[in-house]
Amino acid sequence: MKAFAYAKAPDLAAALAAIEDPGTSVIAGGTEMVNWLKEGIATPERLVDINGLPLDGIDARPEGLRLGALARMSDAAPVVAAEYPVLAESLLCAASPQLRNMASLGGNLLQRTRCPYFRAEVLLPCNKRAPGSGCAARHGETRTQAIFGWSDACVATHPSDFAVALAALDATVIIVGPRGERTVPVTGFYRLPGDDPTVETVLAPDELVTAIDVPAGPHTRASHYLKVRERASYEFAMVAVAAALAHDGGVVTDARLALGGVAARPWRLDRTEAALRGVSLDDTEALRAAVAASFAEARPLAGNAFKVKLAQRATLRALTTAGSRGMVAS
Ligand SMILES: Cc1cc2nc3c(=O)[nH]c(=O)nc-3n(C[C@H](O)[C@H](O)[C@H](O)COP(=O)(O)OP(=O)(O)OC[C@H]3O[C@@H](n4cnc5c(N)ncnc54)[C@H](O)[C@@H]3O)c2cc1C
Ligand code: SF4
Repeated sequence: MKAFAYAKAPDLAAALAAIEDPGTSVIAGGTEMVNWLKEGIATPERLVDINGLPLDGIDARPEGLRLGALARMSDAAPVVAAEYPVLAESLLCAASPQLRNMASLGGNLLQRTRCPYFRAEVLLPCNKRAPGSGCAARHGETRTQAIFGWSDACVATHPSDFAVALAALDATVIIVGPRGERTVPVTGFYRLPGDDPTVETVLAPDELVTAIDVPAGPHTRASHYLKVRERASYEFAMVAVAAALAHDGGVVTDARLALGGVAARPWRLDRTEAALRGVSLDDTEALRAAVAASFAEARPLAGNAFKVKLAQRATLRALTTAGSRGMVAS
């Protein structure tokens, strides 16, 4: 591990001043950062610890949730479970209890891909880790990689479960930096790889995430997060679905769907959402046809065509479970 200096920021202004220096990185719970330091994925000159900042609030308001970036995953889950089950489920199926006690919500959004080539102990061609070195995954092991939005430069997926649930609920990320505060939808927070997979989010190096806002609505309670993985716990998603619905007597009036494990960002199923309006939750064939509408644009790789069918079946199941949670008239 490369040596680095460490300092704890006493307040937001000090933290922002520290990260104006491009050699300085932020550490929150450290569950990602410490691994990166050990593996050489991150080699900062200085680490600024932001755990002393007052950013750990979990506020449930009539207009929605405000979740502080430093709130721990294990603290947020029980507070949001009743009104936002999709959020609680996405948090509780991630990592392990010990990790969730340390892991912050902001850090969760900013974790990096689990592509095995990116995380390999020996350096392999990986445009994300060593720009211009190529993508070993593109014609290599593609089982866990993307089926939407990938480029020849990178086919990796984003691993956050929580981001997928937030994307389905139209949540926004509050960002603060030297140019002031700005708000970005979770769906627009992540960048597709294009020619430069090293830039993964729209967060500038001199900015901090301070909070996440989740709007309230009739759909949040009738929601569900379904994670399909290769073992029952302590595993990242092969495919995941966040579903939130409003329905009137079982007829869908509003549907919000996002997939995880399929792209470099949470992938909203816009066409399916539109096709679901007016469909009865009892009409399995109509639901299946609506789900299929978003998969015309899927581009599976050599080893992951199975994800297309898996994601459709998981979406159908998540929709049905979400629909069974509260008959909410919109
Ligand atoms: C073994 C293992 C299994 C896991 N399984 C899952 C899983 O199944 N699903 C899942 O979703 N996640 C999983 N995770 C990821 C875990 O949730 C994240 O590691 C954790 O949420 C990161 O939060 P942290 O506070 O520890 O971040 P840190 O490690 O402290 O930081 C991570 C990154 O975020 C940046 N950062 C942190 N906070 C801020 C902020 N407020 N503003 C700007 N930048 C910030 C840091 O600079 C760094 O780049 C797993 C992790 C491990 C180690
Ligand atoms: S998919 Fe992306 S992260 Fe994986 S090897 Fe290719 S460039 Fe690297």
